[in-house]
Amino acid sequence: MTGAGRRADGASNADLAGLIRTIPDFPKPGIQFRDITTLLLDGRGLAATIARLAALHPGPVDVVAAIEARGFIFGAALARELGTGLVLIRKDGKLPGATVAVDYALEYGEDRIELHEDALLPGARVLLVDDLVATGGTALAAVRLIRRAGAEVIGASFVIDLPDLGGADRIEADGVPVGTLVAFLGH
Ligand code: AMP
Repeated sequence: MTGAGRRADGASNADLAGLIRTIPDFPKPGIQFRDITTLLLDGRGLAATIARLAALHPGPVDVVAAIEARGFIFGAALARELGTGLVLIRKDGKLPGATVAVDYALEYGEDRIELHEDALLPGARVLLVDDLVATGGTALAAVRLIRRAGAEVIGASFVIDLPDLGGADRIEADGVPVGTLVAFLGH
């Protein structure tokens, strides 16, 4: 898996897809929850996930920005792999310093994310990371935050894409190349 904005199809990275567990009707009826805890338990699978995430967006990255909470896991490991620092994008009220905030709609609910207002240098090339893209609402809110801080989003990487929900397309329509490793069709 190499190349800017490389997106998975239903056959990509079958080894990793097989390590992700699907829990039906969590956290509410009708949601097929894609559970990455089983992937995390597998040492080889976890290492392969980080190596393949690192190959999705070649080119200079100044800092990785990770979205709470599961994005932190992959974001921290990816930052280590790329030799960059890590910026935390957190839920409302968690960051101690002065923040900028954006409200957004989830696949299942509403939320707000925040960024320390001094976390990013102007013009920094930021790689955004989360575990999964569904509608893209969370990631698009993160893109707005990063841009508001004066930095550039050079790509967005996700372990899992739910392509039928259209989030990756929306993020690309906003000018951000998207890379994904595993795609699950349907919701
Ligand atoms: P969205 O903003 O709709 O793209 O939703 C993405 C966020 O919600 C990610 O942080 C995911 O962790 C979580 N999420 C949404 N849908 C699912 C799902 N079906 N399974 C697991 N996590 C999900």
